[in-house]
Amino acid sequence: MRNPNRNYDVIIVGAGAAGCLFSRNLALAGYSVCLVEKRDRNKLSHDWWDAVEKSIFDKVSITYPEDDELWKGGECIIQSPLNLLQVKLDPFPYHEQLDRRKFNLRLLREAIDAGVEFFDKTMVRGPLIEDESDTIIGIHIQDLDPISANLVVDCSGYEGIIRSHIPFKTNFDKKIRREDTMLTYREMREKKPSGSYPDEIIITSKNKGISAAHFNQDKYAEFFGAHADLSSIKVTPKEMAYELLEKYEDKCGKEILKGGYETPVPFRRALDSFVANGLMIIGDAACQTNTRTGEGVASSLYAAMIASNAAIRAFENESIKKEDLWQYNVEYHRSKLNQVFSSSDIVGKILFTLSEEEVEYILTNDIMDIRDYFKSIEGTEKLTVEIIKKEKYRPKISVRSKILAHLATLADLPSKEEEMQKLCREYPEEYNPDTFNIWREKMNNCYIVRYDLDK
Ligand SMILES: Cc1cc2nc3c(=O)[nH]c(=O)nc-3n(C[C@H](O)[C@H](O)[C@H](O)COP(=O)(O)OP(=O)(O)OC[C@H]3O[C@@H](n4cnc5c(N)ncnc54)[C@H](O)[C@@H]3O)c2cc1C
Repeated sequence: MRNPNRNYDVIIVGAGAAGCLFSRNLALAGYSVCLVEKRDRNKLSHDWWDAVEKSIFDKVSITYPEDDELWKGGECIIQSPLNLLQVKLDPFPYHEQLDRRKFNLRLLREAIDAGVEFFDKTMVRGPLIEDESDTIIGIHIQDLDPISANLVVDCSGYEGIIRSHIPFKTNFDKKIRREDTMLTYREMREKKPSGSYPDEIIITSKNKGISAAHFNQDKYAEFFGAHADLSSIKVTPKEMAYELLEKYEDKCGKEILKGGYETPVPFRRALDSFVANGLMIIGDAACQTNTRTGEGVASSLYAAMIASNAAIRAFENESIKKEDLWQYNVEYHRSKLNQVFSSSDIVGKILFTLSEEEVEYILTNDIMDIRDYFKSIEGTEKLTVEIIKKEKYRPKISVRSKILAHLATLADLPSKEEEMQKLCREYPEEYNPDTFNIWREKMNNCYIVRYDLDK
């Protein structure tokens, strides 16, 4: 097997959506690029379809998916946790259902065609550090000598293999906390052709998570379960999915055809910084996921585009320090997308603390519009602040029932969300430790419920 060279301009760890797009862009700009991936090239990404915003392909200059990369969408029914409310949603007009593996392979081919050297089945162990300057100068690889580069890019997904092994102090959290993690389980079985059932049923806020059954594809029935990684939750995501599976057992075959495994996804606002000396972090590794839905393909691609532009500018200026890469932080944090994802994190953290009865109350009394909450960000442009209907809960808070007293936390929500969106827009223009720390503290203060979710 061919081994990587000893030195590159850029090394990218992880050939998911973020890693492939970033690699392609840097190779197209003429830099020597090495992309390393622990899996076999034919087993990249998930072997299933995911909802991805249509507008992203143009935004990041990727050809729109061909028919064979697309799956069917359908209408869906959202059900409240105690099933007092069922709301029908039309097929999301702003999303495509994208074949993740085919799409990922196409992105990889484009990167290789642009000149990227790709090494699959290559397990990265962590960063190579120049101690005196707190600078990342390469990577350690299992069973091979380390390789070095002027810039290392961590696109390794949830685990963040570089991020989580940095020995020096950084401006970002190196570990993702349990309560900021959503555990997911998804499996697809053969769909029996007969029967009448909705295309898609999503049960929200059950077990501080979500479970769903989907029947909108011709051949597959899909079952999904996910919940926040809190020790107080006694069911597994698989058990949540199987509760629905049992209900529809006669509609599907016995064998698991796709999926069938548990995966953690980040469920928190993006890291406060994505850069260190000689390092950029992109995609799930940087927690750039949608905090309402867990979607992360479009935002990872968007971040990869901004990051690649910032990296090229830093190379042109011949300096790859944190300060030189900072523009990536500024552009992503100030974006509308990040404003929505960040402020929704406050809502998510509150929802985790509420009982199923309390969520039921919010939804059945139309305090929060469930349709708007689940619609595409791109489609509605609505922030949660606009969805929460203040006039609906304010008068009722005077009623001294236990539920309503607890729901009083919601009264602070709109102002906290607005504050957080404003802070995103005011992300420090340049790196300065004092200004940055003040900004970070203000962000943390926006949380109404914070860091003690599992006590
Ligand atoms: C059940 C489920 C459903 C989802 N549904 C949607 C959806 O509908 N829409 C949506 O947009 N998103 C969805 N997502 C989220 C989406 O999958 C991620 O946000 C997206 O894949 C992030 O892309 P990425 O490139 O950052 O990371 P990844 O796609 O995770 O890629 C990381 C790559 O790094 C490699 N790697 C990791 N560690 C190492 C190492 N040590 N050495 C070398 N390589 C390494 C991995 O093998 C992988 O190929 C879903 C996720 C799950 C789990």
